[in-house]
Amino acid sequence: MLKRFPPKYATPGELPALQLEGLQWTVAHAFRNSPFYRRRLETAGVSPGDIRSLGDLAKLPFTTAEDLREGYPLPLLSVPPREIVRIHSSSGTTGKRKILCYTRKDIDDWLQMFARCYEMAGLSREDRVQICVGYGLWTAGAGFQLGAEKFGAMTIPSGPGNLDLQCTFLLDLQTTVVCCTASMGLLLAEEIHGRGLRGRLNLKKVIMGAERTSEATVAAIKDLLGVREVYDIPGLTELYGPGTGLSCAHESGIHYWADYYILEILDPDTLDPVGPGEIGEMVYTTLGKEAAPLIRYRSRDLTRLVEGACPCGCILPRHDRILGRSDDMIVFRGVNIYPGQVDEVLSRVDGAGSEHQVFFERREDGKDYMALKVERSGHLGESADMPLSRAIAAEIKRNLMVSCSVEILPHGALPRSERKTRRIFDNRRY
Ligand code: ZN
Repeated sequence: MLKRFPPKYATPGELPALQLEGLQWTVAHAFRNSPFYRRRLETAGVSPGDIRSLGDLAKLPFTTAEDLREGYPLPLLSVPPREIVRIHSSSGTTGKRKILCYTRKDIDDWLQMFARCYEMAGLSREDRVQICVGYGLWTAGAGFQLGAEKFGAMTIPSGPGNLDLQCTFLLDLQTTVVCCTASMGLLLAEEIHGRGLRGRLNLKKVIMGAERTSEATVAAIKDLLGVREVYDIPGLTELYGPGTGLSCAHESGIHYWADYYILEILDPDTLDPVGPGEIGEMVYTTLGKEAAPLIRYRSRDLTRLVEGACPCGCILPRHDRILGRSDDMIVFRGVNIYPGQVDEVLSRVDGAGSEHQVFFERREDGKDYMALKVERSGHLGESADMPLSRAIAAEIKRNLMVSCSVEILPHGALPRSERKTRRIFDNRRY
C-alpha cells in the first residue's frame, strides 16, 4: 500500500536483519565518535563487536533525559559540529531545555518518515494541508511543514491559535487536511461548529500530533467536523520529532517505522521486557541517526505493543496509543493508574463528553480519595447526570479496581487550551 515511501523491507521476516545492521552501525558510530557513549559503553563492558544479534540489545546501557541535560548544549553529539545543519529544542518542564541536533541525512530521514505518514493517511498531491501547530524551536512545525512539502501537497503554515484566521483559510483555500494538537483540534472543531461553517468546508482528514490523544477527543472532533478520518502521529524530539509513526485507518493501533528505530516496551521498574500486550515504557534505539543517535533511550512514555498482522495489510509493526508517562503514573491506594487509562474508560461510556479532570486528595481520615469531573455529551440534558455518573464510577471500578466519586458537568464547562490540557491533579503531595 505504501508505494512512494515504502518500508525498507518487503516481508516481516526481513526486519530483524535490517534492524541488526542498523544497531551494529549505531553502536560502532557512537563508540567511535561520542565521548559520552564511549564512556557509557566501556563502563558497561560492551564494545561494538559484542553486538552479534538483536538479543544483544539487552547488553547495552540505557540513556535518559538526565543524560541529555548533563550533555547540554549538544548532548549525545556523535559528529563534528560542522556536520550539524539544524537544532530543535523541547521545553523541559524542569531545568534546562533539551537541545537535539541533526545532520543533513538526519533531516532527510525524518522528512522521508513524515512523508510516509501523509501517504499512509491516504493523502494525494491534490490535498491542501493546513498546519496549525507551533513553528520554531519546537519540532512540530518544521516536521509537519517540510514533510508535507516532501510529500508534495499544498501546505498552509497557519500556526497555532488564531481561530479567526484558521476559519478563513479553511473556507477560502478549501483546506482538505488539518494538522494540529488534540487540544487545538477540539478548539477548532468547536469553533467551526459554533459558527455553523461545517457545510461550507472541504475538510476530509485531521492529523493530530505532539500531544497524547484520547478516544473521547477524537470522537468529539469527528462529530463536530463531520470528518471521518482522524489520525494520530506520535512524536518525541529526541527521536527526530513527530512523524515516526501513524495510527492505522483501521483503528487498530499506531504503525511505527521499525526500519528507522527499534522500540522496546519495558517494565519501568525492572527494565525487563513486559509480556505480550502489557503496558510498559517505550525505549528507543535509532538505526541510522548520525548527530545524536539514541541507544536504549528511556522516553517515559507508556504504551503496549499490538500483536499480529494488521487488517490493513501494512507490514510495519504497531503499538497502542500513548497511555501516559511513567512519571505521571499515580499510585492510588496501592494501585498504579496511568492517565490514559481514565481516557480509555471514559471513551467506552455512552454520554461521557470529551473533557474530564481527575483529582486525588488525602483527607483528614488519612485516606486517599479519587474524584472525577466529566462533561456530559453536548446532546444530553441534566436528567442524564445521575445514571451517567453511576455508569462511569462502575466502569472505573471494573477497569482500574478503584472507587471514585463522579461529578457530571455541562458540556463546555472544563477549560480547553491550544497546547497540552492538564487533566490530572494530584493534591496529595503538599
Ligand atoms: Zn494497519
